[in-house]
Amino acid sequence: MKKLVYRFCQGRTDGSAKMKDILGGKGANLAEMTRLGMPVPPGFTIATTVCVYYMKHHRLPPGLKTQVSNGIAFLEKATGKKFGDPEKPLLLSVRSGARASMPGMMDTVLNLGLNDITVEGLARLTKNRRFALDAYRRLLEMFGDVVLKTGRENFEAIIHREQGTAPMPMDEETLSRVITAFKLVIRQSTGADFPQDPYEQLWRAIIAVLESWNNPRAQEYRKLYSIPDDWGTAVNIQAMVFGNASEDSATGVAFTRDPATGEKKVYGEYLTNAQGEDIVAGIRTPLPVSSLAQTQPRIYQQLTKLLNRLERHYRDMMDVEWTLEKGKLWILQCRSGKRTPTAAVKIAVDMAKERLISRQDAILRIEPETVGVLLHKTIVPGVKYQAVAKGIAASPGAAAGEIVLSASRARELAEQGKEVILVRHQTSADDVAGMAKAEGILTSAGGTTSHAAVVARGMGKPAVVGCGALQIDYEKGTVRIDSHELKEGDIITIDGSTGAVIIGTVPMQQPQLSEEFNTLLSWADKMSRLRVRANADTPEDAARARQFGAQGIGLCRTEHMFFAPDRVGVMQEMILAADALGRKQALDRLLPMQREDFVRIFRVMDGFPVTIRTLDPPLHEFLPKDPARIAQLADRLGIAVEQIQEKIRLLEEQNPMLGFRGCRLGIIHPEITAMQARAIFEAASQVKGEGCRVHPEIMIPLVSDAEELARQRRLIEETAAQVFAETGLPVEFSVGTMIEVPRAALLAQEIARVADFFSFGTNDLTQLTFAFSRDDYGKFFNEYQRLNIMKENPFDTLDQKGVGTLLKIAVQNGRKANPRLKVGICGEHGGDPATIQFCHKIGLDYVSCSPFRVPVARLVAAQSAISKGSKLPRSGSV
Ligand code: PEP
Ligand code: MG
Repeated sequence: MKKLVYRFCQGRTDGSAKMKDILGGKGANLAEMTRLGMPVPPGFTIATTVCVYYMKHHRLPPGLKTQVSNGIAFLEKATGKKFGDPEKPLLLSVRSGARASMPGMMDTVLNLGLNDITVEGLARLTKNRRFALDAYRRLLEMFGDVVLKTGRENFEAIIHREQGTAPMPMDEETLSRVITAFKLVIRQSTGADFPQDPYEQLWRAIIAVLESWNNPRAQEYRKLYSIPDDWGTAVNIQAMVFGNASEDSATGVAFTRDPATGEKKVYGEYLTNAQGEDIVAGIRTPLPVSSLAQTQPRIYQQLTKLLNRLERHYRDMMDVEWTLEKGKLWILQCRSGKRTPTAAVKIAVDMAKERLISRQDAILRIEPETVGVLLHKTIVPGVKYQAVAKGIAASPGAAAGEIVLSASRARELAEQGKEVILVRHQTSADDVAGMAKAEGILTSAGGTTSHAAVVARGMGKPAVVGCGALQIDYEKGTVRIDSHELKEGDIITIDGSTGAVIIGTVPMQQPQLSEEFNTLLSWADKMSRLRVRANADTPEDAARARQFGAQGIGLCRTEHMFFAPDRVGVMQEMILAADALGRKQALDRLLPMQREDFVRIFRVMDGFPVTIRTLDPPLHEFLPKDPARIAQLADRLGIAVEQIQEKIRLLEEQNPMLGFRGCRLGIIHPEITAMQARAIFEAASQVKGEGCRVHPEIMIPLVSDAEELARQRRLIEETAAQVFAETGLPVEFSVGTMIEVPRAALLAQEIARVADFFSFGTNDLTQLTFAFSRDDYGKFFNEYQRLNIMKENPFDTLDQKGVGTLLKIAVQNGRKANPRLKVGICGEHGGDPATIQFCHKIGLDYVSCSPFRVPVARLVAAQSAISKGSKLPRSGSV
């Protein structure tokens, strides 16, 4: 018979950590911890294959009943108790657990096996009737909600009625009343009584957990984290242990390092006389685990020893659920701990330094987007602001945005391009998709391990939780903080590093990068073959690019230099000039301005290559559109309004992207290219004279034929010869082209004969390969994705199949004709992890991206070199 059930008990187990595919993450780790001899309550795991079978056939696979019954018999033997026994009842937990961690997305039922008779047995066994009744109350509530789908509201209303506003542990009499009321809720909403037969409870709970794989929030979560729908969940069935059995019982969560900062110390919190759900719900305020050192030193020592052992075994920061039952410590679960991006980097670097992992491992452990998040904003230090409230700092970084009170509204507004802060009493698994879209999360309840805190940290979003001063009225759409009445749409700022809540906005700054961050990236640079450059148009951008470790500029779009208010006027004069002489006079005035920019960029990039692209956009982009501006311009130039309108009309094109732009401008108006080349060479000579090392690379855009490049090249070389004769300070330079027209990629062999380098302009190349207008494709593309015609947006991540083939052809054929050809990419794709990995694979020399993506690209360049073409790593915790 096929093996569907895997047992674990006191050092003996059929499973291991390697069997995540079959046992799910939780089951595999329970098996592994059992194997290590850790105090894990005995149990068994139903394999994920059962869930896969159930999804397909809508029934359980043959043989499961027998294997589960045998599993129960095994547990009865191991615990000395019996499932459904009136005197010594065995109680079970039934928990989900998929291959990838999906916290809180699927279902769990605890205390199975209790009924009207066994509850009295449990009371006698534990000599604690209040505890037994409370356990039964919890079962009715969970079973009702999860299995019978009664919803939680009716149960919560009953508790609220009994407890009033000040929650106190309920006494036996109250609990008995609550139990009777809960059973009534079940009967009224399902038309049947709560099942008294423990086996019926068990099977219905197993099926509910299997079905929870496909509940809407789990489906949404899988979509968000690209978890395949066909993995299925395992079901873990374990003997219950109770953190709420007595005052010397407790339940807690512990991390082997601080998940917010990465500091090496045991971190976490616990509640005495409580069950795990009490911590997650954030109803009582938990104590820090470190306080156990004073109150229960023996337990603290035992716990830290177990945590250390787990960390050394798994070579990772672990998140551990533990329970103390009447002085006996149990480990209920362990998994790789979710952590903030700051912590992820610190932990990886520290562990490499401790020789727990290799430097390669440290690099592979960091998910690229983690590094992107690290570049998030914080409030400028020293800036004075008034915090109207303070909550618990749960996930660092500052964020500002409009208040929204529901996850669905957060998604809606974020999709319209608005920045929002999701404000809730607490969050739950249903809110995850909305949280992903918000800038930050603010909750009035919860602690550092509540749902909001854990999920926000995993996403790297700023979060403030447990901010008791907030009074949220979902119906009215208002948030009251003391005397301030705010409503949805009002702007607030939260600081997830201090817990501050501020009305309005506060000046923010880009982050200061930590020492560990720089260490990690310096290791990365040593391992990667692909260099990383930045797209930078101004000296300020260039300085930032260097700060982020760019090894050159891969694209300087010179037209951006002409859009400055003091320059666009001269540019307009040049465009409107009646003849070549008029154009030359305007260009002569642009020359010193452009030269000054290049001087400053070359100084910043001392020793690194700078790729400067000649003018690219259609000229009409520089001319005004509205009549008032046209009149102003006519007035300034002393020409008739009609004359300007006539020129605008002449420049108008049906398809400007396919029109008079790119190298076509420099070929028809060579004086433009000549001026730009002169500005570059004069600046290069000057900066060389100052002692800097200058490497200009002049790049010609939108080439589709070798002859275009050859002509521009001749002009540039002639200009260089003239300038260097004048300055006496020759500078080595190169001339190359963008490959952004499919024809250029196909004829790379011809073009490479006159090019020193190629740089793939994948924005235009994508536009022209798909025939999707870069500016208009949004009109239909969402629908294309919804219809599954295309999964990914080809302007975000390179279409490797189509556009990627053009890249491969161009690299191969280009290098055939010119073995010294340098090849890079400078379209937006240069900062996209999957594209970078592709660029590594096809042998590019560098990628160029926006300065803020440079650290991400440096990391991915190293990961691509280490993982040799296998799929990029994801963080350990997902
Ligand atoms: C490109 O087309 O990829 C490119 C980098 O040029 P631009 O975006 O300026 O057209
Ligand atoms: Mg382009």
